[in-house]
Amino acid sequence: MMRLTVTVSLLVCCWLSATAVGSVDQETDVIKRPRLDDRTYRVFTLANGIRAVAVNDPSATRAAYACAVNVGSHDDGDIDGLAHFSEHMAFLGSAAYPKPSEDDEFLTRAGGQGNAFTDKERTVFFAQLEATAFPEGLQRFAGFFASPLLDAREAHSEVQAVDSEHKKNMPSVDAQVEYLLMSLASGPLGHFATGSVDTLETEPAQRGVDMGAALKRFHSRFYCGHRMTVSTISPISLAEQQQLINDTFGVVSPTNEGICENTQDDFTRRSGGYDSPFDGTNTNQLIHLPVTENEHPLLFVSFALPPLREVSSSQPHPALRYLMEHKGRGGLFASLREEDLVSSVEYGAEQSSVADMALIRMELTGKGSKDVPRVLDRLFGYLNALRESDLNEVYASLARMSSVDFAWTDKSTDMSGDAWRLTESLSYPHVPPSDLLADVHGLMDVPDTELLMDVLHTHMTPEKANIAFADREFRCDSLAALHDGPPLQTPKIDSDEAALRVSSLSRLYEYVLGDALDIDLADLRQCGATARVTYSHQRGWTFRFTAYALQMPHLVNATAKAFATAHTTAGDSSVSRALSALLSDLRDVNTGLAVQSAGEIAEAISVRQAFHRSELAAFLSGLSSAGEATQQMHQTIAQQMDRLYLEALSCGNLNEAESADVITAFAHTIGVSHPLAPADAAELAVAQLRGQHIRVEAWNPIQNDVNGASLLVYQYPYLGIEEGVHLSILSQLVHQSLYDTLRTQSQLGYIAGAHLVTRPPHWSEIASHSYCFRRHDLALAYLTNGVELADLLATYKILTRDDALGVKMHPRQIPAHDSGIGSGGVGLVRLGASPSSKLRGASSALPVRQQIDALHK
Ligand SMILES: [Zn+2]
Repeated sequence: MMRLTVTVSLLVCCWLSATAVGSVDQETDVIKRPRLDDRTYRVFTLANGIRAVAVNDPSATRAAYACAVNVGSHDDGDIDGLAHFSEHMAFLGSAAYPKPSEDDEFLTRAGGQGNAFTDKERTVFFAQLEATAFPEGLQRFAGFFASPLLDAREAHSEVQAVDSEHKKNMPSVDAQVEYLLMSLASGPLGHFATGSVDTLETEPAQRGVDMGAALKRFHSRFYCGHRMTVSTISPISLAEQQQLINDTFGVVSPTNEGICENTQDDFTRRSGGYDSPFDGTNTNQLIHLPVTENEHPLLFVSFALPPLREVSSSQPHPALRYLMEHKGRGGLFASLREEDLVSSVEYGAEQSSVADMALIRMELTGKGSKDVPRVLDRLFGYLNALRESDLNEVYASLARMSSVDFAWTDKSTDMSGDAWRLTESLSYPHVPPSDLLADVHGLMDVPDTELLMDVLHTHMTPEKANIAFADREFRCDSLAALHDGPPLQTPKIDSDEAALRVSSLSRLYEYVLGDALDIDLADLRQCGATARVTYSHQRGWTFRFTAYALQMPHLVNATAKAFATAHTTAGDSSVSRALSALLSDLRDVNTGLAVQSAGEIAEAISVRQAFHRSELAAFLSGLSSAGEATQQMHQTIAQQMDRLYLEALSCGNLNEAESADVITAFAHTIGVSHPLAPADAAELAVAQLRGQHIRVEAWNPIQNDVNGASLLVYQYPYLGIEEGVHLSILSQLVHQSLYDTLRTQSQLGYIAGAHLVTRPPHWSEIASHSYCFRRHDLALAYLTNGVELADLLATYKILTRDDALGVKMHPRQIPAHDSGIGSGGVGLVRLGASPSSKLRGASSALPVRQQIDALHK
C-alpha cells in the first residue's frame, strides 16, 4: 500500500519570518508530548538558517542524528531520478573524509548504521550509533552537507545501485499501479522519480549532459542552510548538543552565494505551472494490467485531493481511512463481502504540496473480478451515503481516541526513526515547535467535518476518479514468454504427510478465524485494541493482544470464544472464501524479493515440519470441495483442541491478579484441560543438515524480476542466551563487511548482508516485546557479564563447520526491451515511445464506464 507521506506546505512565509528574527529557543515545557516521554527537547535556529531540534534522552546508551533537506523528486527537472541519485551520491565522501566507504566503515566501528530516503519534496538522511561516538559521527555527517565531493568517478557504479533499486520495485503490481496512476498527473507529480541507468546515464549522455556537473549544480540549488532541518538525540545535555550542532552544521552555507533556490518559488516549480495536476482532462481514466494467475485480482480507485498536509491537526486522511476500511456491519467492506465480491478494502494516501492522492485498494474475489461494475456501484453508493450522513460524531470520537493514543504512546525503541521524523515535521513551517511531537505522532485534535465533507463532495466523485484493474484474465502476448523455465525444485529432508495436513488445515483455520474476527472485533479494534491469531509450524498457535486495560478481558474472551467454536460453526461459504484468500496468498510470489524466495526454500529444507508454500498450496487445492475442506479442517482442529499447551506472557498496565484472571479465563474458554509436556509442544528444532553441503538452484519465481539472489545458511542449533548474544554480535560484523564490500564498493546488488534467524524459544523473542523489556538493556546485561573475543571466536568456529545450505535463484531470461514497468503489458494506457521505465507521455483513452463495460463483453 501507499503510505502516508509528508509534504511541504504552502505557508513558506511563516518560515522566513521566523528565521528573520534570529535564533528562536523553545524548551520542552511548551512542547505537547506523550505522558511516558521522559526526554527533553530544545528547538533553535542556526545563523545560516538551519532549524534544529536537540533531544536529551538521559537513559539512552545510543545516539541518533538526522537531516532533512527540502528537496525531492518534484525538483528533478529534466533528469528523472536526479534527486534520488543526489541522495545516493551525498554519502560517498566529503572534503574532510574523502574515501567513499569511509562513513560505512566508521559506523560499523561505532556499532551503528545509517540510511536515507528521497520523497517527493523531502530528502532525509539519518543514522544511529553508540553514544560515545556521537560527536565524531555528527562531525562526519555534517560533512555530507557542508562539503560533499560528489565525485563523478563514483557516479557510474552508484547508478547501478539506483537501477537495481528500481528493478526491485517493478515486479510488484502495487508499485506498478502507483506509478501508472501518478503518471497520469500533469507536471512534476507525474514524472518517474526513482531513476534508472536509462534516465541517469544513457539519456543524459545522448543529450550531451555532463552528469558530474549536473549533480554539483543540483546540490548548489537545493542543499543549503535555509532548506535544511537537523535533529540529534543523545544522553548528553541540551546545551552541549546545541553547541555540537552549531560547530558542525554551522559551516553549511546559508544560500550557496545566492544560487540556492528560494523556498518561496517551490510551489511554482513543483506544480509545473498547473493549477492542479488533475484538471478534468486526465481523470475518469482506466488502466488495465495483468496480475499473474496466482495473485488476487485487484481494483484500485484513486482521487486527487487538495494538499492537506498543512491541516495535519485535523488528519482528514486517517478519518477517511476509518470510513473506507471500517469492517463492522453497515460499512463498505461488510456490504461488499456479503455479496462475496472482495476479500479486503484498504485506504492509503500520498501527500505533496501540489496535490494529495487518495487510493482505495480492493482485493477482489473471482466473483468480484467478473463484476467490476457492481463493485464500483457499491463503492460510489457508499460514498454517496457518506455525503448524506452526519459525520460529526464519528470524527469527534476518532479525535478522542487519537488523543488517548497520543497520551499513552510508548517510548519508541527506534532512535534513528525518531530523529528523522523530528527533522521532517520540523521542516514544515505550519508546525509550531509546541506541536512538533503531535505532528510526528499524527495527533488528530481539531476535527474538521466541513473539510471532510468538502473532500467527499467535491473530490471523491466518479468523474474525478482514476481506476486501475489488475486482472488475471488480462492477456498480452509478451506474457507467454515469461512462464517458461523449469519449475522450482525444493528437496525435502523430512517429508511427513500428516504434518503437511496439519500445517495446511491449520493455516486454513487461521484465515477462517481472521474472517470471523474482522467483523466480531471491528468496534474494539477502533478503540485501539488489536488481536492477531496466527499459526506456524514452529510455534503452533500464537495469540497476540494489545488493548487498554479495561478492554483486555473482553477482547481476549471474544477471541478465545471464536477460536474454540469457529471450526465447528464456520459454513462452507466462509471456508471457501478463506481457502481462496489463502491459496491466493500462498501463490503470490510477485510481492516478494528473489532473496525471500530463496529464504523460503532454505526454511522448507532446514526446519523440521516446515513446508514450502507450493506444498501447502498443492495440498489445499487437492481438496475436492468446500464441504471437504470444512470437514477436514474441523477434524484437524478438534484434534488439536485436545492437545493444547499454553505459555502466556502478560505485561503493561495490568496487575498480577488481573493478568492471571485474563489468562485463566482464556485457558478455560479454549479448553486447555490436558496440557502437554513442553517437550511435546509444537515448538521444534531445526532439521539437521548432518554435516553436508546442500545446494539448490532454482528460477526466480517472480515475474518480470531481472534480479537473482544467492543465499548461504549456516545452521546453528540454539544453545543458550550467551550464544544468542555471541551470534548476534557476529552476524552484525559479517553483515557490515558484506554490505561494505558487496553493496557499497562492488555494487553487486541492492540487498547484501547477513542476519541471524533464531528459532524459538530464545531471548530476543522475549526481549523484542519492547513493552516489557528493553532488548538493548538485556543484551547489555549479558555483554557486561563478559563476552571475550575468545568466546566470539569459539562461536565462530562452530558456526563455520562444514555444513551449509546454499540457495541460488537465477533470473529468467527476459527480452531486453521488456525491462520496465511496461513489461507484462498494460492495457489502455499507452506508455511513451519505448516501453522502458519512463513514464512520461502516458496518455489514456476512453472514459472509465465505457472501458469497463467493454471488459465484460
Ligand atoms: Zn535509493
